[in-house]
Amino acid sequence: MKSTGIILAGGRGSRMKSDIPKQYIEVLGRPLLYYTILAFERSNVDELILVTGAGDEDYCLKEIVEPAGFKKIKKIVPGGWERFDSVYQGLLACEDAKLVLIHDGARCLVTPGLINRMLEQLPALRACIAAVPVKDTIKIAGADGCVKETPERSSLFCVQTPQGFFYRDLREAHERMYKALAQGSPLGRGITDDSMIMERFFDVPVHITQGEYSNIKVTTPEDLRTVEVFLKENRRC
Ligand code: C5P
Repeated sequence: MKSTGIILAGGRGSRMKSDIPKQYIEVLGRPLLYYTILAFERSNVDELILVTGAGDEDYCLKEIVEPAGFKKIKKIVPGGWERFDSVYQGLLACEDAKLVLIHDGARCLVTPGLINRMLEQLPALRACIAAVPVKDTIKIAGADGCVKETPERSSLFCVQTPQGFFYRDLREAHERMYKALAQGSPLGRGITDDSMIMERFFDVPVHITQGEYSNIKVTTPEDLRTVEVFLKENRRC
């Protein structure tokens, strides 16, 4: 089944406190987004759609994609206001996609191995997300800032990307979500990943598959040091 990776690089990354969006920050002389695309280029995914901030398409093409000689990127399209708007723009840009892997461009330590494992499992699972068991105890706080509840740790996971779905399922789930949003339904609010859209608007189980602890989402400045350490390690291999 044809597989398409949708790489999201349309965010503003305000938590990074940087003048440029985090996906373009350079580590070891290359923008973070370069490493993300490289992992997908080296994986078994058939093709890629890159979703950028509006107006960044040319920069990505001329400064990242062309110099690196990336071959799998079929289209570079502008994203939208929310992350899910960017995913939807990516879905609209797909041609004949059967399987889609949605991936945060800011997770530049993703490995071809993880991408391939997801691609292998997806046809049988229909919906699967990369995740790792939480290491810390998690508390739910009340509005007063005090602990309200402590969920059992063994059932908690830190969810990552890639998140993989059948194209037609994810597209349909998005159409239903936009309809709900237009009707002012609260179900359309607070969506932070693709799985949530499937959970709320499409009736198939989303399977948790094994992610990698190193597959962090670069979010705050200290994450850049982690990225540098891992990238240096990979270069030695
Ligand atoms: O904001 P957050 O860290 O959750 O973003 C995750 C990924 O989604 C990032 O790679 C970011 O560039 C992307 N994104 C996007 N369009 C948006 C918001 C986020 O492509 N409107």
